[in-house]
Amino acid sequence: MLRHTVIAGLSAALFPFLPLATPAADDPITASPERMQGRIDALARFGANPEGGVSRVAFSDADVEGRAWLAQEMEALGLEVRVDAAGNIIGRRAGSERGLKPILFGSHIDSVPGGGNYDGQVGVVGALEVVSLLNEHDIVTRHPLEVVSFTDEEGGLTGSRAMIGKLTDAAMDTMSHSGLTVRDGIARVGGDPANIEAAAQKPGDIAAFLELHIEQGAYLHEGDIDIGVVEGIVGIRWWDVTITGVANHAGTTPMNRRQDAMVAAARLALAINQTANDLEGRQVATVGRIQAFPGAPNVIPGEVRMSLEIRDLDAAKMQRVFDLIEIEANGIADESGTSIEFGEIDVASPPAPTDEAMRDVIAGAAGSLGLSHLYMPSGAGHDAQDMAMITPTGMIFVPSVGGISHSPHEFTSAEDMANGASVLFHSILAVDRGNEQTGR
Ligand SMILES: [Zn+2]
Repeated sequence: MLRHTVIAGLSAALFPFLPLATPAADDPITASPERMQGRIDALARFGANPEGGVSRVAFSDADVEGRAWLAQEMEALGLEVRVDAAGNIIGRRAGSERGLKPILFGSHIDSVPGGGNYDGQVGVVGALEVVSLLNEHDIVTRHPLEVVSFTDEEGGLTGSRAMIGKLTDAAMDTMSHSGLTVRDGIARVGGDPANIEAAAQKPGDIAAFLELHIEQGAYLHEGDIDIGVVEGIVGIRWWDVTITGVANHAGTTPMNRRQDAMVAAARLALAINQTANDLEGRQVATVGRIQAFPGAPNVIPGEVRMSLEIRDLDAAKMQRVFDLIEIEANGIADESGTSIEFGEIDVASPPAPTDEAMRDVIAGAAGSLGLSHLYMPSGAGHDAQDMAMITPTGMIFVPSVGGISHSPHEFTSAEDMANGASVLFHSILAVDRGNEQTGR
């Protein structure tokens, strides 16, 4: 039985066109904060750390136990559970129309060492909540729905990278925090690393992907805003910066005859900060590591090596920030009698914009539920950035108290989690219905 009960005023959403502005439904279906908190608490038992968070690194005993709990929850909701070759746990709910591709949604349950109870977990618990709501209201979607918990997100987006066919042998050979290589870890959790390509999906295989996640920053919490509509995951570029001066005796070389690489480096670090500050926008630039050579208290440093990282949602903007920093560096080098060289490291990840129509669907769902929302970039990496390569992708943020994350102290209230799950629920229904119009 197909029942399009109250779908929060999104009946006019013509995905991928803009949802028309419609008045809020009187009594839209909304997520249960208590049920979500209950599942968060249940999951928090696996790898609980003394500070109140979890240390549930991928492939550890705690991860294996948490995964078993999740598979049971999925089965209890009537989902058909499978583990793909990358160890991704996928729970499928059948749709009513043959031949339609699944709408995929979820996040991850692995944590960083010394992590909290919300990063990733809110997205998986939110996905379970969506299925609970569908079951409660006897709603059958046209598309099959698939809840996903990606393998080893914190170790390098392992599961989603495999799903887009880009998990390399080198990545599988890296050592994970569990003490196992990623390859052995995937095998431990029921994947098939020798046949990893079986996990790969092609463009067109998935109708859409949605991820609910905590913001991990402070914009929403400080602005008292309910929902972040993620415009994309910022790109990242890294450089090794080498400043070369002249090493000399720190006692006998007068101040006006020095070519001090450390002083030049200090000025450059300030200039990098100033440059990123002075431009309009949310670009960030960071010096996170610095080392002086020869590195003795009584020697003027002849060489300093430091890192430079730039992040933004716009690749051209990132380049502009770098160009401006280079101009500053040239000036500093001239004045200090040093040379400054930038060597880019090949770890760049390009900006991954979300799908514009998906953003509008999410914003429309938030609006119809009476929730305030803000379009914003994600400064942290997520599985959604991989999925955006092969399917229309949308991402929903909920507030992180104080912007704290990757810490036992990260916190999101049950009400905020439920707001996010309600938006996820109505977004999925909008995508499911809207596709009718486009035949997608
Ligand atoms: Zn996460």
